[in-house]
Amino acid sequence: DMEVAIKVVVVGNGAVGKSSMIQRYCKGIFTKDYKKTIGVDFLERQIAVNDEEVRLMLWDTAGQEEFDAITKAYYRGAQACVLVFSTTDRESFQAIDSWREKVEAEVGDVPTVLVQNKIDLLEETVIKSEEAEALAKRLKLRFYRASVKEDLNVNEVFKCLADKYLQR
Ligand code: GDP
Ligand code: MG
Repeated sequence: DMEVAIKVVVVGNGAVGKSSMIQRYCKGIFTKDYKKTIGVDFLERQIAVNDEEVRLMLWDTAGQEEFDAITKAYYRGAQACVLVFSTTDRESFQAIDSWREKVEAEVGDVPTVLVQNKIDLLEETVIKSEEAEALAKRLKLRFYRASVKEDLNVNEVFKCLADKYLQR
């Protein structure tokens, strides 16, 4: 069997939980004060999908989301994408279209899922559930509500991406 390795970029505004999501998925930990690292880096995790071993390499932008030159280099060669916004940050929700466009401009139409993170803070939500669903529908994306903090739906997001990638 050929080994399958997928470069996945995790994209969205600062503080939506991207680094936490990568840490949670690859290391199984959640820390409240995730230290921002400098430069672009990735963590990886191997999973079995059907009978295939799939290696997911999750790339983190290290909090430099505002610098186009850096994010461009980071998207290069991406084969799948997670678009993330936060339950408590309306701007992060409104920015999803532009994140999607940036990734698409660099790598085209790769398997992508939309994630509303911090669903544990649903009582403080600034996004109506219908709005989030409408966005997913308009962008034709599979939509997950997740909590990296409570480890809710994180595995499912990446399993879905790996499935989509293999079905391509
Ligand atoms: P990034 O800038 O997108 O990489 O976001 P970080 O991973 O640095 O997370 C920003 C903050 O949100 C940190 O304090 C995290 O602990 C917190 N955070 C991440 N995911 C969740 C979650 O699911 N629920 C809650 N309540 N906080 C979270
Ligand atoms: Mg980060």
